Amino acid sequence: MTERLPLMAGNWKMNLNHLEAIQHTQKLAFALADKDYESVEVAVLVPFTDLRSVQTLVDGDKLKIKYGSQDISQHDSGAYTGEVSGPMLSKLKCTYAVIGHSERRQYHGENEEIVNAKVKAAFRSGIVPILCIGEPLDVRKAGTHVEHTLAQLDGALQDVPADRAETLVVAYEPVWAIGTGEVATPEDAQEVCAAIRARLAELYSAELADKVRVLYGGSVKSSSAAGLMAKPDVDGGLIGGASLDAEEFVKIVRYRE
Ligand code: PEP
Repeated sequence: MTERLPLMAGNWKMNLNHLEAIQHTQKLAFALADKDYESVEVAVLVPFTDLRSVQTLVDGDKLKIKYGSQDISQHDSGAYTGEVSGPMLSKLKCTYAVIGHSERRQYHGENEEIVNAKVKAAFRSGIVPILCIGEPLDVRKAGTHVEHTLAQLDGALQDVPADRAETLVVAYEPVWAIGTGEVATPEDAQEVCAAIRARLAELYSAELADKVRVLYGGSVKSSSAAGLMAKPDVDGGLIGGASLDAEEFVKIVRYRE
């Protein structure tokens, strides 16, 4: 079995202007000792307007914090007013792009076809998608959450070849847990994260599925991180609200202590 490096990724959502982003990233860097970087990968997923500030800081101070965007255009260039393309993000040395976050699906009508096109666009530009999938409350109540989430996975990976898919990060984010304070139990998270890995094995191979990191996201706090991370198929967290508090985010990164 491959040892998967846990990833703790902070999704700032639409918070922190480019000056606040510098302060916040500096606080994180100061609080994270070198030893943390060895056992956990740390990333911040920031508004487009913050990317250049974060890049300058990370490059200049040789910080090991990775960074990325919260969305990406499905097109590489052209008449798409308001969009930001993969080539633009890779020029800013983004490692990651969040794709298919439930807030994009809900407020911007992103469907499986668009999510699939964005996943392909990210790979074309050498950016790793953090693909968000997960069920809303009514689906959870109906007991079809695994099927729902796997259908989203299938749609997002349509015609994505194995040599690209093997670098993917998947985030299981039940919609009912996002920003609600209602975190999934470690058992609930494990059930779906394991099903995602099993589907990746079916779609590609067991070897590939073993390499892909599957994160859990939804109201993770320092008090719940260790329990979630103890599960064998949970390889890290996508952290929203709690990532805006540098001290709390660092505690989550140090979940082992
Ligand atoms: C998210 O935005 O992806 C998220 C998981 O948010 P929160 O941690 O605030 O629930």
